[in-house]
Amino acid sequence: MTDALRDLKNVLGEVADLRAANSVLSWDEQTYMPPGGAPGRAIVLSTLSRLAHERFVDDRIGELLDHLEPEMSGADLDSDDARLLSVTRRVYEKDRKVPSQWVAEFSLETSLAQQDWQKARATADFTLFRPHLEKIVGLRRQYAGFFAPYDSVYDPLLDDFEPGMKTATVRAIFDALRPQQVELVRAIAAKGNVVDDRPLHKAFDEKKQWDFGMEIIRRFGYDLEHGRQDRSAHPFTTDFWTGDVRITTRLRPKYLPTGMFGSFHEAGHALYGQGIPARFDRTLLASRLSSTVHESQSRTWENLVGRSRAFWKAFYPRLREIFPRQLGEVSLEAFYRAINKVGPSLIRTDADEATYNLHIMLRFELELALMEGSLAVADLPEAWNARMQEYLGITPPHDGDGVLQDIHWSVGAFGYFPTYALGNLLSAQLWEAAEKEIPDLTKRIARKDFSGLLEWLRTRVHQFGGKYEAVELIRRATGHPLSPEAYVRYLRGKFGEIYKL
Ligand code: ZN
Repeated sequence: MTDALRDLKNVLGEVADLRAANSVLSWDEQTYMPPGGAPGRAIVLSTLSRLAHERFVDDRIGELLDHLEPEMSGADLDSDDARLLSVTRRVYEKDRKVPSQWVAEFSLETSLAQQDWQKARATADFTLFRPHLEKIVGLRRQYAGFFAPYDSVYDPLLDDFEPGMKTATVRAIFDALRPQQVELVRAIAAKGNVVDDRPLHKAFDEKKQWDFGMEIIRRFGYDLEHGRQDRSAHPFTTDFWTGDVRITTRLRPKYLPTGMFGSFHEAGHALYGQGIPARFDRTLLASRLSSTVHESQSRTWENLVGRSRAFWKAFYPRLREIFPRQLGEVSLEAFYRAINKVGPSLIRTDADEATYNLHIMLRFELELALMEGSLAVADLPEAWNARMQEYLGITPPHDGDGVLQDIHWSVGAFGYFPTYALGNLLSAQLWEAAEKEIPDLTKRIARKDFSGLLEWLRTRVHQFGGKYEAVELIRRATGHPLSPEAYVRYLRGKFGEIYKL
């Protein structure tokens, strides 16, 4: 390693350390911190964010990159070092456009907003959250302004979560997808109420729910020597470094799927985090380059595995043993159908696979309108409810189950939502490729054997860490571009069989 490369890695390492400290404190804020700690914690997080940003955008990193880039010409462009330089250059140039003072203010505001969002959600009182959201939207619009000119004010935000992705591309993908999903949902609705999900709406002891979830995610391969699960208002995964990747979940005492699928989802993220090579630690290659790739991993374990018949063939007897009173009379087939019941639902994270992307499209359109300035925060609850009615035919009984349900806007993560839908597409494409290479994939899952799938994902996805964005990763893994066809095929196959379409 040259001296310049070593110097670069040292500085990036310090930035990563500051960000890891920041992540530990954010994790604590959402899990164990007493409410009274909020104002002080917001200041600490703001200081750490500013210091990490200042350190990263320092001229020294630019000088080191300038020095190192010519040395790389002619070298293997896929090598770790070459990718490290190009990824660092990209983020460096972007972050240089953002004043450190903005970073500090954004961190302070979003941290303070968390606590009031939690209260607002619990009491279904949007007015508590509204002043925070107005500030956050203002800050986000200011952020986009640092990157003008752009085709869409939303482009710089989207690009933070999916590098290179354009708003126009997302819109085109959604426009192609929406009619097909709507048609499927209508065809299912036309069949009437043929799937009974009442068995899932019973009293399920929370400790037992927790234990079952833990048992399964351990089976998936989630390593508790290098991770842990806690409870939070909104489930999330956080990685401080590859050796410490944590998840959270939330449980509902009278609805089984929330905690269970929440744990599977976050474990999917964590398996990716734990599969990133330790040699990428303390560089940008260990962090989340592409949220689309991340969501493809969570959705794979939550849905393609966790909501499959093969999976429940293996684990339903165990679940029934834990909840004999609730599920004793419910057959495997009835249970499988219940957890895959398609219907309009209020909460995105509880949505079935057929309607899920409609929840995302709703958020994408509202975020875009907020950023473009065509929708005021004050009018957001009404706009939310109108679109829920239009897309799903239901209106939330209160804002807690409506506009306040997701954590994303309180942390300022505008631009994230589209990556859930794109991640769904990617998960189906990866699954088709995995099935080709592991012909007995579902049989293995029915035998409680996830090692083949995990190994395949490790090789095709995890080992690259943050080296490639979604478009490049899927091309490498499958030879195909990112597209909706595999996902639509998957939905039609699965729900066509359940609903006899
Ligand atoms: Zn996720």
